[in-house]
Amino acid sequence: MYNFMVLKKKVEKELRELSNKNIRVIINPHKKRRGVHSLSFLSFRYIEFDGPIDFDNVELKGAIAHELGHIEERHFLIEFLALIIPDLILLAATVMFLLQLSASINPYYVTATLFAFVIVLDLVVYTSLGRLMERRADLFAVKIVGKKSIIKVLKKVRNWKEVKIDLTHENINSRIKRLENLPSFSSKK
Ligand SMILES: [Zn+2]
Repeated sequence: MYNFMVLKKKVEKELRELSNKNIRVIINPHKKRRGVHSLSFLSFRYIEFDGPIDFDNVELKGAIAHELGHIEERHFLIEFLALIIPDLILLAATVMFLLQLSASINPYYVTATLFAFVIVLDLVVYTSLGRLMERRADLFAVKIVGKKSIIKVLKKVRNWKEVKIDLTHENINSRIKRLENLPSFSSKK
């Protein structure tokens, strides 16, 4: 069993070097599914490490830099707004339509159609935005720590058994290839 307090200290030290924001570090060593996540909503921010994380220092730096990309660019907030605003517009349009509805149309059909639209729309927004944000977080990370550590951590994550198909994430090999083809524009290596 790895020492999660050591991991927490390392992450906190790295965060102090890479960002001036106050970001909480959460370590859940007992979770079965390994993963790294982050969330940033207004002034509330955290990075979370689940399960037995087996990153070396280089990989850890890459993972933190990627999550910082999500935090600095407020990806969670953008995604939240992108999901909620079209839904509200659709809902308002439907309510207006229902209010003027003639008796010949069943309001249940209108409501069911609205739900179908909302689900499809949200799914499209969620998956396409998710992929775009992963790409942006990778690029952000490359700018602050260089591409080697990001490629290294992606290769480590690729070997985790728990990594499954996820619609919001592009295939990990494509992400690695894209980074490898990127010119090195970082100040650090
Ligand atoms: Zn990410």
